[in-house]
Amino acid sequence: MTLTAYGESAEAALTLSEDRIKELEALWSTTDENSDIYKVNQSGGTRKEVSEETAEILQFALDMAEETNGSLDPTISPVVTAWGFISGEYHIPTENELTDLLQNTDYEKVLLEENFVTMPDGMQLDLGAVGKGYTGDIIAELLKEQGVTSALLDIGGNIQMVGRKPDGSRWRLGIQNPFGEGSLGVLESEEGAVVTSGNYERYFIGEDGKQYGHIIDPSTGYQAESGLVSVSIIAKEGKLCDALSTAIYVMGLDEAAEYWKDNGGFEMLLVTDENEIYLTEGIEDDFTLNEKFSDMEIHVITQ
Ligand code: AMP
Ligand code: MG
Repeated sequence: MTLTAYGESAEAALTLSEDRIKELEALWSTTDENSDIYKVNQSGGTRKEVSEETAEILQFALDMAEETNGSLDPTISPVVTAWGFISGEYHIPTENELTDLLQNTDYEKVLLEENFVTMPDGMQLDLGAVGKGYTGDIIAELLKEQGVTSALLDIGGNIQMVGRKPDGSRWRLGIQNPFGEGSLGVLESEEGAVVTSGNYERYFIGEDGKQYGHIIDPSTGYQAESGLVSVSIIAKEGKLCDALSTAIYVMGLDEAAEYWKDNGGFEMLLVTDENEIYLTEGIEDDFTLNEKFSDMEIHVITQ
């Protein structure tokens, strides 16, 4: 995590930010026994009270799950755990194991009433796909309240920007090359968030020599293999970017384009496994490909 803020109030504001991030982490950790999420996950089907922030992010995650038809599912945790992404002890589950675990994943079974969560025994929540983005929104707001007008926050790869650079120009963000080292190109942006998801970010190599990534298609329990290798979402709110980067990665190109046309409110940059880039029209002029990748074809998605 790297937080950079400019101006007189920057230093004090960053100290506050760090404390706030630790607080939020402590609320949403799946492993910390004192966290809200841990409490709900151990509830054995009983109703549990959670903090206001947790209720808010959970409500958002459940809404986005609904809107993306379950491509995002905050209850996918048992499956993610079975693949070993929580413990680091990676393993390829059997088809039967996954079928069993999928019985316990369904965002529609999570009941949230104000600050109270009730979830069937055996189900598990994980806010990993949205938590960092929401944290970005909260910290950007905190910095602004403290008088900061220019800041760049990198929260585990999620980028959140307050205003522009101190010299008035836009931030220049590298979009990581999903095929290897370096960056594909530069995206210029300001005031808002840019969040990238991809299975290249976290994966293990199985005994069969294949690569298994951390983004799971909730309809199968297996890795999302949608033909996309990287999805960057650009929008004012980090939480929207984070939720959509994961969901759209699961959807694939065609469904992603449909979703964008139907919903709007964000821009996206998609990289396919066929070495092509798709940009939505709103960022067409904001992205510059690195010379090294000049052989990649760029397509623009229009309304
Ligand atoms: P992100 O890095 O934002 O794309 O989030 C990926 C993380 O969210 C993974 O490491 C898992 O913990 C979890 N996850 C994986 N697949 C999904 C999914 N389809 N819906 C919700 N969370 C997921
Ligand atoms: Mg995400």
